[in-house]
Amino acid sequence: YAKQRGKNRVERYQRRYDELLRRHSVLENELRHAIEREQLRLVFQPVVALPSMRPVGAEALLRWHHPELGAVRPDEFIPVAEESGLINMIGSWVLDQACEQLSQWLAVGHDVWVSVNLSPKELHAADYAGQVAGVLQKYGVPAQRLVLEVTEHAVATDMDELIRRLCELRSTGVRIALDDFGAGYSSLGQLRKLPVDILKIDHALVAEPESRTGTAAPLVDVVVRLGHRLGLEVLAEGIGSPAQRAIVEEAGCRLGQGSLFGWGVPAEHLEAQLETARSSGSRPVPVQRARP
Ligand code: C2E
Ligand code: MG
Ligand code: MG
Ligand code: MG
Repeated sequence: YAKQRGKNRVERYQRRYDELLRRHSVLENELRHAIEREQLRLVFQPVVALPSMRPVGAEALLRWHHPELGAVRPDEFIPVAEESGLINMIGSWVLDQACEQLSQWLAVGHDVWVSVNLSPKELHAADYAGQVAGVLQKYGVPAQRLVLEVTEHAVATDMDELIRRLCELRSTGVRIALDDFGAGYSSLGQLRKLPVDILKIDHALVAEPESRTGTAAPLVDVVVRLGHRLGLEVLAEGIGSPAQRAIVEEAGCRLGQGSLFGWGVPAEHLEAQLETARSSGSRPVPVQRARP
């Protein structure tokens, strides 16, 4: 009896595993044509200055809409793109589109920066810094208007090589953000060594204060202070409620992002937000560069 149950369970796992493999290979094959079939687009999520809540920047987030599969989430297709090597092609497209949009906003006088997420594979591609410089030049975008986000996961690999790559990138004048900080891997010692400009506090850390225990408010406090002591800008991600905003503000954090201020939206929508902010006449926040 038990033997039969065990056998059924193994078969269930096997079926589930086969399904996952199939899904993975379907996604990979479809992703290969997603750009030419115009299934990819970028949305932009506002980054606001705190406490004014004036939009000062935007994170470009990739969206894939497939005619049969529907909307596929980046958390599902980015790993597929990374494993298959398609990420380099897709990442180039993202960088290009984001810089084109940024150049249009700058052309109509918006005081804004744009950030783009970077996979470790892209960062380690030959002459990635040269590619970035080329795109900036193509659209005439000043380098300090572009932020490149590297995730904490990239930190788990070869530190010396990572530092070299980030230095190369920063020498083009772009700023680097360390994404999802506090979610897991990097140690405080590593943070000190990394040539980054902005620390993005992971939304898990920001969301926690509303949970029953509420133990993360002191953590947010400590991370904001740590970032500032290291000369970094600190940006809190995933702010979803006024209570969370209050905690982040009390910690002295000057940049925020999250559903409270808006999800990722098509560029036109964000532009409307920028227009409103400009006509309301709040003072612009200067673009700042961290450590020399
Ligand atoms: P991320 O860079 O940390 O992006 C933030 C994610 O949190 C986004 O999910 C965003 O929609 C979501 N988010 C924003 N505000 C809130 C909030 O208030 N609460 C909660 N719970 N979530 C919020 P999205 O767009 O699904 O992206 C997921 C991840 O996929 C990104 O995490 C990033 O790592 C990756 N990704 C997205 N676009 C690209 C891309 O163009 N290239 C690469 N390499 N990765 C990308
Ligand atoms: Mg990001
Ligand atoms: Mg993040
Ligand atoms: Mg993330």
